[in-house]
Amino acid sequence: MKLVYMDHSATTPVDQEVFNTIKPYYTDVFYNPSSAYSPAQKVRKAVEKAREQVALLINALPEEIIFTSGGTEADNQAIISYAITNMEKGRHIITSAIEHHAVLDSCKYLINNGFECTVIPVNSLGVVEPETLEKAIRPDTILISIMHGNNEIGSIQPIKELAEIARENQIAFHTDAVQTMGKIPLDVKALGINMLSGSSHKFYGPKGTGFLYLKKGTRIGRLLHGGSQERKHRAGTENVPGIVGLGKACELAGERLPEQVERLTKLGKRLTDGILTTIPNTRLTGHPVDRIPGSVSVCFEFVEGESILLMLDQLGIMASSGSACTSGSLDPSHVLLAIGLPAEIAHGSLRLTLGKDSTVEDVDYVLQVLPPIIERLRQMSPLVR
Ligand SMILES: *Cc1c(COP(=O)(O)O)cnc(C)c1O
Repeated sequence: MKLVYMDHSATTPVDQEVFNTIKPYYTDVFYNPSSAYSPAQKVRKAVEKAREQVALLINALPEEIIFTSGGTEADNQAIISYAITNMEKGRHIITSAIEHHAVLDSCKYLINNGFECTVIPVNSLGVVEPETLEKAIRPDTILISIMHGNNEIGSIQPIKELAEIARENQIAFHTDAVQTMGKIPLDVKALGINMLSGSSHKFYGPKGTGFLYLKKGTRIGRLLHGGSQERKHRAGTENVPGIVGLGKACELAGERLPEQVERLTKLGKRLTDGILTTIPNTRLTGHPVDRIPGSVSVCFEFVEGESILLMLDQLGIMASSGSACTSGSLDPSHVLLAIGLPAEIAHGSLRLTLGKDSTVEDVDYVLQVLPPIIERLRQMSPLVR
């Protein structure tokens, strides 16, 4: 059976070139980068080279990069450690209703520990409006965290405008860029932000590795206590192969970016247009234009997303309904509810996310099998009047 992977927002395969670069660091060059003997210096150098590669992709300085165990840890550290370190300035933070759970649950943790959090709404296209952010700011607000690109509906936020509002009010700004890193150009200086989270496995690097960009001068504590690795920002022996892989993935992403943006935008449009024109009672979710290239999200009326996934799976097509973290629960995704979709429509959501190896043939295969699947499910549905 033909297998078609259309879930690149959940994770991606490690690029072969990345894999080849990583391999020696598991075996031959296995030393602890903190060790004093000379062979270990080679490992230290590899870690520092990776730091430069990450920094280059987002226009940061190498010393502004803290390696973490992934996007989740970076989000936790940005929010929890920043808030705790700076709480003498105030105990109020702001985030949006469509954030990843790594951000929302970090905010909840702070709420349980004496902080207050305002969760601002988004408009029907899944975009935070600058005026909404402005209105939520209080004298005791110390941190704003708004994601760059949404993992479920693909909408890209006006981070530059939002960060400017934060700066005018002397509030730190963090963005979760896990879904945009390596997919669209990212420039932390141009965006004017203090912190940014990234994760290697969302753009062809290994799982379990990510980073936090921390602008020089931004004060933050640490989540993990122990050794003085990462300039005392993150204790623990470095995940050297993971870090080397993240660096290589950044280098490759930078080289391929312009061509990939163009190709995935086109391919995504072919898939979106094909679905919307052949399947009635279907709507696109998220912003029609300002979205992550190759990210397609739709809602079909009168069907359950879970049923669509099962039928696609039988045909070898891997996709998701809402985010991978929420499937398994029967509640419609918080993101789809936040853009104002009624629960019964949000239940019929499907997310297809394309990647570097996706082809026109893959897209056309989905366009061929999806309409009869939806039609069959609708025939069986008690929801159809
Ligand atoms: C995947 C994802 C994360 C979590 O990253 P991990 O490296 O899997 O911990 C955080 N935020 C967003 C938007 C994501 O898509």
